[in-house]
Amino acid sequence: MFENSGENKTSLSELGEFGLIDHLTQHFKIIHSTTIKGIGDDAAVIDFKEEKAVVTTDLLVEGVHFDLAYMPLKHLGYKSVMVNLSDVYAMNAKPKQITVSIAVSSRFPLEALEELYSGIELAAKLYKIDVVGGDTTSSTSGLLISITALGGANEQDIVYRSGAKPNDLLVVTGDLGAAYMGLQVLERENEVFKVNPRSQPDLEPYSYLVERQLKPEARQDIPPLLKALELKPTSMIDISDGLSSEIIHLCKSSKVGANLFEEKIPLDPAVISVCEEFEIDSTTIALSGGEDYELLFTIDQGDYEKIKGNPNFTVIGHMTEENEGMHLVTRANQKIPLIARGWNALGKEEE
Ligand code: ADP
Ligand code: MG
Repeated sequence: MFENSGENKTSLSELGEFGLIDHLTQHFKIIHSTTIKGIGDDAAVIDFKEEKAVVTTDLLVEGVHFDLAYMPLKHLGYKSVMVNLSDVYAMNAKPKQITVSIAVSSRFPLEALEELYSGIELAAKLYKIDVVGGDTTSSTSGLLISITALGGANEQDIVYRSGAKPNDLLVVTGDLGAAYMGLQVLERENEVFKVNPRSQPDLEPYSYLVERQLKPEARQDIPPLLKALELKPTSMIDISDGLSSEIIHLCKSSKVGANLFEEKIPLDPAVISVCEEFEIDSTTIALSGGEDYELLFTIDQGDYEKIKGNPNFTVIGHMTEENEGMHLVTRANQKIPLIARGWNALGKEEE
């Protein structure tokens, strides 16, 4: 849809590198007093004051992490920011600045990059983030986006993957599996479209799923909520790859085991019904689907009262001694070892 062939499209070569950078970054406003220098010098300058700096990077590659056939560029820009912010929230920290680096082929006109940047700008506005720099270069094939997020936290508030103890409760925010099923729906519609370009997809029944795939929201509400509840998790991680592999990460870092109860896994009704339609097991999807960008954390049992009845949180299991292993306890009360990529049921190998 953004191929360079259309009329009224501006080729990137018309602007030159500096013109392009100026054009794309002209609307960014600095909101944090900790941003001493943003775009426009050799490097940004950040003041962390008494806080510790939290830094994280993600690289997204066309054809590997996204497909522009069903991912509008504005959504891609928004999602690229979310992926990074989610990692900062998973440290119980507050993201404040990002840098955005892109490599683009001549296939993309200026208008395509404007779309991409409108998504980045929206994300920056809604999550109160300063865009303080980046890099722009050409690519011989597709589009690459690398975002680095900088955040801050008081040292005593930072939560690592490594602090879980046996008997801690395992808690998840939101619900799982919707983003993966949204992707299945979009891929199916794309196949139909390829055969019959005049078909009009009816995505209405799948709107929640498609939105979770195309416009995920990082859980910026959770760190302040935890603070208000006077609750510091013992360990935390964000769910980017699927519940199963994230539990394994927490267990390995913390040297504990875990029991996850199948019946407790929070699923939206839309996920349950689309799984029936696609004849896929919804537990498998929650375990291995990924891209949920929810937070998974452990708390001391003594803190249970602080989250009890809170609709943001679901207790899905508990940690055990390391030698007890990591298991899914099924509805039939069978214990199945947890494997990253859920028994490889989705056909993907462990990365
Ligand atoms: P340098 O040659 O030192 O790498 P550039 O000319 O690439 O500098 O960048 C000039 C300024 O624009 C820098 O502040 C840089 O961080 C910023 N910048 C470059 N590309 C982007 C981009 N894609 N998005 C946001 N800022 C960018
Ligand atoms: Mg540069």
